[in-house]
Amino acid sequence: MHTLIFTAEIDDRYGKGRVASRIGLSSSAALFSKETDLFNEIKQANEVQALHCILLDESQFLTREQVKQLIYVTDHLNIPVLCYGLRTDFRGELFEGSLYLLAWADKLVELKTVCHCGRKANMVLRLDAEGRPFHDGAQVVIGGNDKYISVCRKHYWQAIEQGSEQAIFGYPAE
Ligand SMILES: [Zn+2]
Repeated sequence: MHTLIFTAEIDDRYGKGRVASRIGLSSSAALFSKETDLFNEIKQANEVQALHCILLDESQFLTREQVKQLIYVTDHLNIPVLCYGLRTDFRGELFEGSLYLLAWADKLVELKTVCHCGRKANMVLRLDAEGRPFHDGAQVVIGGNDKYISVCRKHYWQAIEQGSEQAIFGYPAE
């Protein structure tokens, strides 16, 4: 199958234009930034050689406009588009790309990760070098000594509350 792979320009963990899985598979990838016209890039590549599929990693970084472009690829070029990304940032807020993918995608598949307690981990906690959780600041921070860990909702808010001066929910902590 002839697949076109995209990843976000912002993510340079694997070197420029590469998508890698944690089990060791990797592939070169085209880069997208917020300015990339995904519809035109895909349309042009499809004219050179017919595409069977588009795979887009780090889809949380898509803009609303780019999610619309991908919908147009699916509905008018009839090429399936698979997007892979995070639902929420370390503040517990939706990313723009994820918001519109959740709203408009044909099919949603949740990949399960497990918290240290055994519950489903659906939140991302950002820890500084001393292991203290962040609750605010810029949505996107690449590099530095910060660490991101997947935790369940209960342990996410518990960590945030412990690192905060005031109660988050207004109830006493357990
Ligand atoms: Zn937990």
